Amino acid sequence: MNIQLVYNPHSGGGRGKELAPLAIQALVDAGHEVIAHGTLYHDHATEIVKHLDLNTCDILVSVGGDGTMYEVLNGMIKNEKIKTYPPFGVIPVGTGNSFSQDIGMKTWRDGVKAILSNKKKAVDVMKFNTEDENYYSLNCIGFGLPTDVCINGIKYKKVFGKGAYTVAALVEIMRYKPFHTKLEVDGVLHEFDAALVNFSNSTIFGGNMKISPESIIDDGEIEIVVLENCKKGEIIKALPTVYKGEHLSNPYITVYKGKHFKVETFPEKTLNPEGEIFGVTPMEVTVMPKMIEMFYKENV
Ligand SMILES: [Mg+2]
Repeated sequence: MNIQLVYNPHSGGGRGKELAPLAIQALVDAGHEVIAHGTLYHDHATEIVKHLDLNTCDILVSVGGDGTMYEVLNGMIKNEKIKTYPPFGVIPVGTGNSFSQDIGMKTWRDGVKAILSNKKKAVDVMKFNTEDENYYSLNCIGFGLPTDVCINGIKYKKVFGKGAYTVAALVEIMRYKPFHTKLEVDGVLHEFDAALVNFSNSTIFGGNMKISPESIIDDGEIEIVVLENCKKGEIIKALPTVYKGEHLSNPYITVYKGKHFKVETFPEKTLNPEGEIFGVTPMEVTVMPKMIEMFYKENV
């Protein structure tokens, strides 16, 4: 098989540089022809894949974390010469690898095994529109508290190292202000004051938090998990339950389910698609049922 592969040497705090050659070698040893492209800067994977001749390749592979996967996916869908999307393989070497856990993978070896087993399934993609531009997401698009933690965690990294996100979470909970939200779900309008809103195609975000335990990646619908306005103490109490996905019984949490959504917030909120920080509300989200084929590993 002819494989076009994009790897991010910086993913997983530099693990990509060590692990990508091992993954490539394993695919070559199994008899595949691999053309590998390393990324040099943010969004480079999208630029690379947008201009590849994907009609002559059998498989497209992303080696990196959720961010690299997101960039490769968007490059593929925005590739103007493409006739049909090649099957998509993900080899997780990132820090969190949130999405890949829903297709049975935690390590780069799992990703290689899935491709070599040739087991594929069609999965849903979320098409979202912000600032008059369309983008595509497999994992989740959020805004509110976790997004603010993500933005400020990056700033605190130099001072606090690994503890940066814990510090950022405490700071953001202390200064959190609810925002008014109008959410249209398949034509029905809901209004509430929220602390966080998360559009989930898959179950996990942030690497190990099961934010949307009811999400199924190929059922044609997505879940929107909303934490409504509540006291700061309630947020701190809810936080540990998210790791196991035990937060849905919390009275401040509501889950909406549907196929097409429009969301507006007051004030506007910065978006956090697949861990990236870009775009703002208002946003429109449409589920694209079984849009692409992905390799998966059984026995999750
Ligand atoms: Mg679903």
